[in-house]
Amino acid sequence: MAPEGSALVTGGSRGIGAAIARGLAADGWPVGVNYRSDAEGAERVVRDAASNGGRAVAAPGDVSDPEAAAAIVDALEERFGPLLVLVNNAGIRADGLSPQIRDDDWERVLATNLSGAFRLTRRALRSMMRARYGRVVNIASVVGRRANPGQANYAASKAGLIGLTGTIAAEVARRGVTVNAVAPGLVETEMTEGLGDELLRSVPARRAGTPEDVAACVRFLASDAAGYVTGTTLTVDGGLTA
Ligand code: NDP
Repeated sequence: MAPEGSALVTGGSRGIGAAIARGLAADGWPVGVNYRSDAEGAERVVRDAASNGGRAVAAPGDVSDPEAAAAIVDALEERFGPLLVLVNNAGIRADGLSPQIRDDDWERVLATNLSGAFRLTRRALRSMMRARYGRVVNIASVVGRRANPGQANYAASKAGLIGLTGTIAAEVARRGVTVNAVAPGLVETEMTEGLGDELLRSVPARRAGTPEDVAACVRFLASDAAGYVTGTTLTVDGGLTA
């Protein structure tokens, strides 16, 4: 059985992260709902968790800031105990064909999607290895494995996440800590607004995914039952890359 501790979902104020935060709270984890600017959204998720009998707290912090990881985790652990489930979900995109991608669009996508996840994982592993129990789930993307013109920065960040998932998993497997990634296809959220019908026609399931479709996979990987699943990337894309 999992020891007593807490869970953190970065970018939990809306979209996929909000569904994951609600799901982990329903599974009994006290959850930190991280966000950068969307305080209202985070408070809504905290209220949803409470109305279902769960516990959650808003956990502000910009994951692209190198100082943020320690501050976010320290505050959460003070409130809810050692961090044992980390979901690196916060992500942004800044699309453009490669010749047009500006340095700052390259840097901020990498800083948020990849470096932020690495620093939080490094901080979380301290608590997890001490507890000899932990679950890290990185939200990657099918774009981390398959070309998507116009998203070189985003694809690099997601491929990077898939790479670090396997390597960190191998480093910590002996300590009861698992590290996995989930690679969603097209999911209906603010991030994909307007991406529309043409893309949908290439999805064998003939529908976009829901945040809950992704959350279900994360809840499994975060569960006690998934203790022998590590270093893998679980695709949830309605058959898009099959
Ligand atoms: P949304 O844009 O709907 O939500 C993004 C969340 O991340 C918000 O809560 C946002 O909060 C937060 N966030 C953004 N930047 C930061 C930051 N620097 N620090 C802390 N929080 C931050 O995105 P989705 O729900 O669609 O995506 C969630 C994850 O899933 C992302 O990693 C995305 O790349 C991935 N994904 C999404 C797919 C899709 O089809 N939607 C497909 C494949 C992967 P705030 O507004 O306060 O910054």
